Amino acid sequence: MKVKDLSNDRLREIIEEYYQNKFTVKILLEKHGVKYISNFIQTATLYCDEECEICGSKMKYKLESRAYCSSISELKKICSVCGHDGTKNCYCKSCIQHRKLEKEKELEEKRSFLKKVLEVELVSLDKLSAKELIFVGVLQEKGIGGYDLGVLAQKDYFKNTHTYPEDSFNFIIELLRNNVIKINVNESNLEHFILKENKSVSYYPALLSYYLNLNEDINSIDVRKEIIERFKIGDIEECWVEICLDECMKYLDIRTTAMELGIIDNPIKSDIYSFLQELLMEYSVGRVINVIYKSVNYASNFKVEYDVEVEKAHKAIYTNIKNNIAKGYIKEPFDRPYELVQNSLSEYFCKNIFKRDSNEVFKQGFSINELYCIEEEGQQQKDEIDPIKEGLETYNKLVLQIKELIANNVPKDFIISYLKITEEIYNSAVGENNDNC
Ligand SMILES: [Zn+2]
Ligand SMILES: [Zn+2]
Repeated sequence: MKVKDLSNDRLREIIEEYYQNKFTVKILLEKHGVKYISNFIQTATLYCDEECEICGSKMKYKLESRAYCSSISELKKICSVCGHDGTKNCYCKSCIQHRKLEKEKELEEKRSFLKKVLEVELVSLDKLSAKELIFVGVLQEKGIGGYDLGVLAQKDYFKNTHTYPEDSFNFIIELLRNNVIKINVNESNLEHFILKENKSVSYYPALLSYYLNLNEDINSIDVRKEIIERFKIGDIEECWVEICLDECMKYLDIRTTAMELGIIDNPIKSDIYSFLQELLMEYSVGRVINVIYKSVNYASNFKVEYDVEVEKAHKAIYTNIKNNIAKGYIKEPFDRPYELVQNSLSEYFCKNIFKRDSNEVFKQGFSINELYCIEEEGQQQKDEIDPIKEGLETYNKLVLQIKELIANNVPKDFIISYLKITEEIYNSAVGENNDNC
């Protein structure tokens, strides 16, 4: 008789004996009148009494060599048809499908929870800062009107809003905090969100997808008009100087690296930063980087000649910047160096707000006041402005300001120092006030 011809009960008896391990397989099989085969335990099929909970077919034992097992009761069971074994990690088709659905359900729950938690109201255009408005302008230029921004941090125009990647990253945080952008949960990989036990959510903003979260239609926004009408000269200047400063600090790093002086650290760096910030209120980037270029070169010579520590060379750069202004280098602007790539905010400012050539602005700078004169004078050429008319207008404006402050009970001393006027001008304005009454 062959093994496969044995009834299930007979086979069970033989296998029970097999695990008792008293005889060799050969003797055991001969004892039961079965023809010997060397791989007996691997080829035998022993059914158990149970049925498969998935498909109802007969379950069988997963027979193991007695080297690893000593009794039938220790054996695992598996469905003879669908392969279901009833364990948590069962690889039968049904269990794999079930786990897949469970996972999808879990993700769907996570997604709707995140949507609820991360929902923010649309933000109105007049809540945006000047820099945020410029960013909206950049989006407009790129033709992004569908409001889906994708993974913002990966977009070239965004990576290039600042010359340092960490500044661009911080800008995402700022946009997010002010609700200018909103997380697009549908398009973001849910693995990048971590739900904490207290139901709070943490995530890494640079990896997520975003929407533009504006109340207004992006295509209907006149960014230049908004900038000029809503912001004071000082605010626009601050925004523009920040962009220029970013480029100057980058150029400083480029030059110190080129001259093998490494990167300047704080506190020297922050001293230079503040100083350049002041310079940029008055001078173009092209002029400031000429001074930077020469200052780093001299510091490098100083280091080589006197073999000083690198920190001393860094301090020398700061001193040189001051000295080189006195030497008049600030009067000679550089063209934009090829290694200093213009960032996308600067590009937008020149082209769409100043309406000037980027290289011209780089070399000659741009006075924000001009923006307002051009607006007030309409299409009139700057050369044609009548100095007498302009003087009168300025004076009349000043008188109006003084009157308004007086009407609001602001003390005379304050008005004089605040408007930077003399007592004579004040009296003259008050005089007019009386005449009118
Ligand atoms: Zn089954
Ligand atoms: Zn299964």
